Amino acid sequence: TQLDKEWLQEYVDDWVSFYRKHTKEGKLASYIPILGKANPHHLGMAIHGKNGMIIRSGDVDTPFTIQSISKVISFIVACMERGVGYVLDRVDVEPTGEAFNSIMHLEMKSLNKPFNPFVNAGALTITSMLEGDTATQKLEPIYMLFEKMLGYRPSLNQEVYQSEYESSARNRAIGYYLIETGFLEEDLEITLETYFKQCSIEVTVDDLAKIGLLLACDGEDPNTGEEIIPRQIARITKALMLTCGMYDASGKFATYVGIPAKSGVSGGIVAVAPPRVRNQQFPFIEGCGIGVFGPALEDRGNSIAGIRLLKHIASQWDLSIF
Ligand code: GLU
Repeated sequence: TQLDKEWLQEYVDDWVSFYRKHTKEGKLASYIPILGKANPHHLGMAIHGKNGMIIRSGDVDTPFTIQSISKVISFIVACMERGVGYVLDRVDVEPTGEAFNSIMHLEMKSLNKPFNPFVNAGALTITSMLEGDTATQKLEPIYMLFEKMLGYRPSLNQEVYQSEYESSARNRAIGYYLIETGFLEEDLEITLETYFKQCSIEVTVDDLAKIGLLLACDGEDPNTGEEIIPRQIARITKALMLTCGMYDASGKFATYVGIPAKSGVSGGIVAVAPPRVRNQQFPFIEGCGIGVFGPALEDRGNSIAGIRLLKHIASQWDLSIF
């Protein structure tokens, strides 16, 4: 009802202003120079419920680049193009416990295949699998999926793309290693261009909430019932988000928050709260997607205020899937 919504809105506004003070404890990502220019005190959140309820609070209108959250989308597209078997034959589904761009872990355990689609080695391998001979061709199905999920075609932030391209030494090092081990299926330059461009797509917290909601609905459009992502792929994606989505803090996030989520170094987080049968008090009992943006990061690379805010909401509303 309208009253419930007003009450929830006030609650969420209070939480967002409360957790905003934690932004001071975090740091902007600066290894991509342009990301270091964001406003570290920004914090915004959007919650889109399957029941149609939408709660937005804080800095919800500031666009930001999707960064690592794009790894979720490229994984889904690769699975839709090539089939899950093909993709998982080449990239594993195990968390690393190491930083997302770790080079060290590449050589561990006589590498059978990159550990998972959300560390850079796995993400570059996934991107190289996308169909097409040029970055433009490979990106088109990614844009098309975005368009279906968001209702509009997002744009590329050219400045962020340039900045990433110019500071790409580490991703190149990973790329050369993948060539040597036979995982890259094509020219490294095409993979890197596609990867940096997919990371530079601009979104808002509402966009992330819509993506989260679609995954909460197992890939079915909550309004039309249309299957946008096949159910099996949506499920695998959520399992990967839960185990590997929050960098090397994924175990803690699963323990203390308990819902699938993926973060990116620009400070975005997409979180998925699937429908619940228990706890009739929960305002989003039918499931919801949550988008958060807070560019000040903790030392693992997750939005510092964002994860605290999610932890608070998840415990208040009993969101944990466990
Ligand atoms: N484009 C960034 C990189 O590969 C993405 C990192 C991230 O968001 O984790 O370095």
